[in-house]
Amino acid sequence: MKKRVFSGMRPTGPLHLGHMAGALSNWVKLQEQHECFYSIVDWHALMSNYMEAENTRQYCYDVLMDWLAVGLDPEKCSIFVQSHVPQHAELCLALSMITPLGWLYRNPTYKEQIENMQNKDLSTYAFLGYPVLMAADILLYRAELVPVGEDQSAHLELSRETVRRFNNFYGEGLLVEPQPLWTATPKVPGTDGRKMSKSYGNSLDISESAESMWEKLRSMVTDPARIKRTDPGEPEKCPVWDLQKVFNPDAEELEELAHGCRTAGIGCVDCKKKLNVHIQTMMAPIHERRVRYTKNQKLLADILTHGAETASKAARVTMETLYPAMGLIPAFNR
Ligand code: ADP
Repeated sequence: MKKRVFSGMRPTGPLHLGHMAGALSNWVKLQEQHECFYSIVDWHALMSNYMEAENTRQYCYDVLMDWLAVGLDPEKCSIFVQSHVPQHAELCLALSMITPLGWLYRNPTYKEQIENMQNKDLSTYAFLGYPVLMAADILLYRAELVPVGEDQSAHLELSRETVRRFNNFYGEGLLVEPQPLWTATPKVPGTDGRKMSKSYGNSLDISESAESMWEKLRSMVTDPARIKRTDPGEPEKCPVWDLQKVFNPDAEELEELAHGCRTAGIGCVDCKKKLNVHIQTMMAPIHERRVRYTKNQKLLADILTHGAETASKAARVTMETLYPAMGLIPAFNR
């Protein structure tokens, strides 16, 4: 049975290999089995970037091209920009009626982000309500499955609590409790060994050229114990090894590399070269596809228009049931 799936990403910059391995490759599989709605959530981006709004538009296109390049297919899933479907904002307002402030203040992600992003003024009404908009995104499509990383678990739980509270007030079955679909891939490390993230400046981008990718891999830190070529190393202490585990599909070669590292049989550059070959093999068709889309702005616009139409249709069906349940007169012209 086909299920409804919703997921989104914020247009805050080009996507990287962490997004690809940690989320998008799973999204590509899901589009074959389910009815998927994938949204470029621009309102969400504005919540933390409202002071640099001039980049958001370009970032939306960057995300779109990255998605298409890795294999999301507009014939198989709906790809759209959140603000093109006004019901996201509408349902967010409706849900905000019943969302207790305590839920939002207690949200661990909120506290963490306020602390981590001290260069931005995030003490706004909208930023506190981030999970309410996220709940609206999911619930609008009555999505049953939400592929998310564990970093989103508190938000998803809040969506589920919102459903229970809403249905309790206005009627059982009005909204559907979404289930998380945890992505199995571990955290993909960036070039400095920390989690790959644009904000750490350690990412390998999907759109990155082969030369630039190799340059970054070549200068990556490895096990600090391997100072000289003759010093043995321990793969488990090396971020290049973590990348090997995600991106090197050759189990035999992996074993050889681990052995070579522990016995100082190979140097770090040899190991990085092998990794680079696998990454380039994987990225070549992705880059080719991306270039084709980059050259076709009309096609990109058409994909977004078509995606917004499909999403709007589903969104209207949900909103039409919620209006009367909440005691509102449904508009006559929708
Ligand atoms: P957004 O703010 O749009 O949700 P994130 O940068 O948090 O964007 O990434 C979206 C999703 O991509 C995450 O929830 C996670 O599943 C995946 N992801 C991002 N970075 C990594 C990484 N370094 N390793 C594994 N998965 C990642």
